[in-house]
Amino acid sequence: MFGLRAVIPFSFWYFLLPFFCYQLFLIFGAIKIKSNFFVDSISEAITTKNEIALTFDDGPSENNTNRILDILLQNNIEATFFCIGNRVEASPELIKRMDAEHHLIGNHSYSHHFFFDLYSADKMKAELLKTNYLIDSLIGKKMTFFRPPYGVTNPNLAKAITQLNFHSIGWNIRSMDTVVKVEQKLLSNIMPKLKPGSIVLLHDTAQITIANLQTIIDAIKAQGFTIVRLDKLINIEPYA
Ligand SMILES: [Zn+2]
Repeated sequence: MFGLRAVIPFSFWYFLLPFFCYQLFLIFGAIKIKSNFFVDSISEAITTKNEIALTFDDGPSENNTNRILDILLQNNIEATFFCIGNRVEASPELIKRMDAEHHLIGNHSYSHHFFFDLYSADKMKAELLKTNYLIDSLIGKKMTFFRPPYGVTNPNLAKAITQLNFHSIGWNIRSMDTVVKVEQKLLSNIMPKLKPGSIVLLHDTAQITIANLQTIIDAIKAQGFTIVRLDKLINIEPYA
């Protein structure tokens, strides 16, 4: 028994250390998406106009996305949805509704797998192409905007994005809506950071976003900003 106890801590740490290092590397990469560490990501527009864009990740979501679309419609606002391929397969009608209501659709991988960042460039490319095929078959448009899952970029992803001619899209305002529990905190994550050209990251899947979207829109307008569609904000063609 003593022998085992002496050995286990060593083997345990040898096993876990690379994992921790990789996590640190991912966190660094995620934080650094704004500084284009691996990929030239667009995280804001260079403009003096008081215009910003809202982006919603991780949908479409059967129970949630319609509620977001309803609020956007009532406010006559065009937004951008970075969709996950396997969720597109589950809710194709939501994609058609987004497109019919003039929202923009971007690629957010097929699986959004936790280990997506460990995939080879070829495997990443296969995911991007599969999701593009799904959207194209629904609305006849080939997406060129891609948002990396978890906002993490690395050399393999850089290769995939470059070879497929995607534009990598980041954000400069992270609402933290998948984490925060209080409305006031959600608003304070967004409002003080708004500036001309801001790209705000939200999620279809966050209940707190659905519950407070109207409040967020009202606050943005009250601060003198107009919400425009992402492609219009950054002036890049979103479909090939
Ligand atoms: Zn995501």
